[in-house]
Amino acid sequence: MRHLPIFLDLTGRMALVLGSGEPAERKAAPLRSAGARVAMRMRFDPSDLTGCVIAIGANAPDSDLQALSQAAQALGIPVNVVDRPELCSFISPAIIDRDPITIAVSSSGTAPVLARLIRGRIEALFPPAYGRLAAMAERFKLEIRRQLPDLALRRRVLERLLTGPAAELVFAGREPEAEALFAASLKEEPSPGGMVFLVGGGPGDADLMTLRAQRLLGEADVIVHDRLVGEGVLDMARRDAERIYVGKRRANHCLSQGDINALLVRLAQEGRKVVRLKGGDPFIFGRGGEEAEALAAAGVAFEVVPGVTAALACAAQARIPLTHRETTRSVTFITGHTKEGRLDVDFAPLVALGGTIAVYMGVVSLPQLRDGLFAHGLDRQMPAMLIERGGTARQRGLRGTLDRLVEDGPAWSTGGATLVLIGKSVERGIHAQESHIPI
Ligand code: SAH
Repeated sequence: MRHLPIFLDLTGRMALVLGSGEPAERKAAPLRSAGARVAMRMRFDPSDLTGCVIAIGANAPDSDLQALSQAAQALGIPVNVVDRPELCSFISPAIIDRDPITIAVSSSGTAPVLARLIRGRIEALFPPAYGRLAAMAERFKLEIRRQLPDLALRRRVLERLLTGPAAELVFAGREPEAEALFAASLKEEPSPGGMVFLVGGGPGDADLMTLRAQRLLGEADVIVHDRLVGEGVLDMARRDAERIYVGKRRANHCLSQGDINALLVRLAQEGRKVVRLKGGDPFIFGRGGEEAEALAAAGVAFEVVPGVTAALACAAQARIPLTHRETTRSVTFITGHTKEGRLDVDFAPLVALGGTIAVYMGVVSLPQLRDGLFAHGLDRQMPAMLIERGGTARQRGLRGTLDRLVEDGPAWSTGGATLVLIGKSVERGIHAQESHIPI
């Protein structure tokens, strides 16, 4: 370790910033946040250091910066000059401010860009709400001491509170509920409190997942996932987390929905932090609603984390605006799933709406879908598109009228998850010839 990290108390203390403009302002801001009284000077005068406990130089004439460094070091005042390591007695870290939690990252001056990249990763890991969580723990400090005199027990309970359902409520912006839960669980005997997260994993590529989903994957004890979840997504999981595959394929179910519901309830009741990871969004044709009902009925705490649903990912990558001010005022998500061979779609209002139609699980029933739409007056020339593996590097597209897609679709398909988009806006998509996107 080349430098010792410390956190300096600057409340009410004097700080000198030598320099002007944006670079100097950028240095003054965190000093002020830490409660320092900041004197800003364009030129250096040794008397400026009187009473100062820290000095920073940024964007000032070189001779002034050198004089500042020398004078400050002679007086034992920590000094930093931006981009001039030879003039520094301390280096300033990249800061993640989750007040009262502060994380400082340093590359010992060797690679500040890397330090900033690392800061970005850490910021993603600890959302701003961590500060609110720490503040809540602070508010309960006395109460916790009073209720739990034993230090080891106090630690265990605190750890559980800070990573369990109460913490998740804080992250979800439901602080009053979190406080109530936090208070209630302090009074109870510590019991294992499992929880289930119904998490949207997005369309496949890991970087289309939300930061919240990534964080939960890194924290989960067990991950229950199915076929639509991409490999890169699962790579985000904690190495030692248990993974349970409950994949479903049409007419070839691994586990029935009832079995999955029961599994989630059982895992939570064992006190585990469970992530139920689903492709896209858990509440769009993902049967997340049924799982939520089963969890609620069993009294298991759960949260839902949204994900980028297939229609949004496919449209974005194919550059098809799902709505458009001039031509397309609505978008409807429907399922082409059939029950006993019958398609349950209310065609008349769908055609009347005149917007974009996104059909999930619609490839097999595409002929019926086409017939129904045409029978209710849809223009036979209405543009449509099949998009396979949307939102991933392997996305493919087939554009044409519904007649053409019905005819050519089966031979074109390579068996990946496929969405059907129908509507005027499909025409507005930027076509393959004009882009480098593999459509
Ligand atoms: N909850 C998921 C949808 C599950 S239903 C979501 O929000 O995206 C499964 C159907 O979604 C598939 O049959 C297919 O129509 C569609 N789908 C899911 N992922 C897809 C992808 N990457 N590309 C195209 N369609 C996809």
